[in-house]
Amino acid sequence: MTGSEQSIWWIRRDLRLNDNTALAKAATGGRTVLPLFILDPRLTGLDAEKRLRFLYSGLHALDAELKKLGSRLFLRTGDPAQVLGSVASELGETKVYAEEDFTPFSRRRDADAMNSVQLELTGGLTVVHPAKVLNREGRPYRVFSQFKKRWEELAGEVSVRQTRTRFAAPDAIDSEPLPSLQGDGPDAGEAVAERMLDRFVSSSGLENYASDRSRVDSTTTSGLSPFIRFGMISARQLVATAQAAAKGETETSARSWLSEVIWREFFQSAIYHFPESTTRCLRPEFEGIEWRNNPDELAAWREGRTGYPVVDAAMRQLQAEGWIHNRLRMIVASFLVKDLLIDWRLGANWFMRQLIDGDTAANIGGWQWTAGTGLDAAPYFRVFNPVLQGRKFDPHGDYVRRWVPEVASVPDRFLHNPWDWPELQSAKIDYPPPIVEHKAARQRALDAFNAAKSSYTG
Ligand SMILES: Cc1cc2nc3c(=O)[nH]c(=O)nc-3n(C[C@H](O)[C@H](O)[C@H](O)COP(=O)(O)OP(=O)(O)OC[C@H]3O[C@@H](n4cnc5c(N)ncnc54)[C@H](O)[C@@H]3O)c2cc1C
Repeated sequence: MTGSEQSIWWIRRDLRLNDNTALAKAATGGRTVLPLFILDPRLTGLDAEKRLRFLYSGLHALDAELKKLGSRLFLRTGDPAQVLGSVASELGETKVYAEEDFTPFSRRRDADAMNSVQLELTGGLTVVHPAKVLNREGRPYRVFSQFKKRWEELAGEVSVRQTRTRFAAPDAIDSEPLPSLQGDGPDAGEAVAERMLDRFVSSSGLENYASDRSRVDSTTTSGLSPFIRFGMISARQLVATAQAAAKGETETSARSWLSEVIWREFFQSAIYHFPESTTRCLRPEFEGIEWRNNPDELAAWREGRTGYPVVDAAMRQLQAEGWIHNRLRMIVASFLVKDLLIDWRLGANWFMRQLIDGDTAANIGGWQWTAGTGLDAAPYFRVFNPVLQGRKFDPHGDYVRRWVPEVASVPDRFLHNPWDWPELQSAKIDYPPPIVEHKAARQRALDAFNAAKSSYTG
């Protein structure tokens, strides 16, 4: 086989055979494609066990699909630029294709790789490339509704392409064994993702999305985020599905779901245009906030013992399962940043260690949005009241009781504020009192945010 007849599909976060532009490009002209995954020690060394397990499960699933097609997933460990260089020379001068990723880390890694091989980056992580969604002055949008309008014009009617092709023989080059799967966790892979999407669309999930999506006491959302994170299903497929559903009776719900998917595109675009947002407030006036950063309170938040049942339930689920509902992410993020006055970066960091769907763009976007320091963020004076949020989105306490069994016997009426239950003393419940008093903590946060604003001279 000569170099011109084959190419390398460098898989990073596009673990799918369907609707994959990098794969389609790699196969152009009838070339045989070598599917290569590189375990980069900078990533596998991260303290993110649950997410890595999910990735590894996805690698096994992809390998199984490729084996059905007479090939396999080729795996190597090391610095990507070096590994690509040596694989390309083993195969004879070979071109590499990969789906472009937008984080500062990925952009540096890909620039490095370009120094050692011929690498072509393709679209696919988003439906529309962030560089295209610009306002009339050629600048990126800071307001979601404006971004969404332009994005919808550019995306148009989205369709999904079949991109399975001819893959390299299993012995084309040496491969390391796939990482073994340790511990429990959800099964990953394209087939699981497809089934979940089908179930979400055909059951009442999508139909009731507009009305129920904020409820945390039952399954009200697709649960697809970890699969999207690793490209086990394409962003185009989600949008095509939502657009098709929007033509039927489920129009309102389908549009509402599509909007959430466009939030994802908005945050990917934000990281592309504002890479500094991974570490700095997008509203510079808030860079001067005097955070309290009390380590004991940070530990109580992480471990789910703040004395606020809905916060504690969410933090415990996060640590156990690596996934929590969007509403819960907002509640616990607001609690950390506002009630405890702890820097959003410490919270974002903890989320990245725990989340199976941990994605720099969505995570930073979500944290900066909740803190009020980001693009089109919630106004900084909006502080979630954990008691009212709990009552509204977990009205019978089913969610809290599952994760905070200590308060299971507290009557519904007091479940989200057990300290007000007159029989609390006699019930001898082993649950901490609230770590802060919400009203006073809220005022303290507003004072700190206001002080930062008024002393800002930039
Ligand atoms: C503080 C905070 C941190 C977050 N960190 C992450 C993260 O690391 N990774 C991540 O994928 N999402 C993150 N989110 C966004 C959101 O919470 C999850 O995407 C969502 O809960 C996933 O559930 P689902 O797949 O059932 O979503 P659905 O409601 O079914 O939505 C479909 C898809 O749209 C996208 N999406 C939905 N809501 C949002 C949103 N608000 N922002 C961006 N994309 C969205 C996701 O890809 C999701 O899978 C964060 C939100 C907050 C407030």
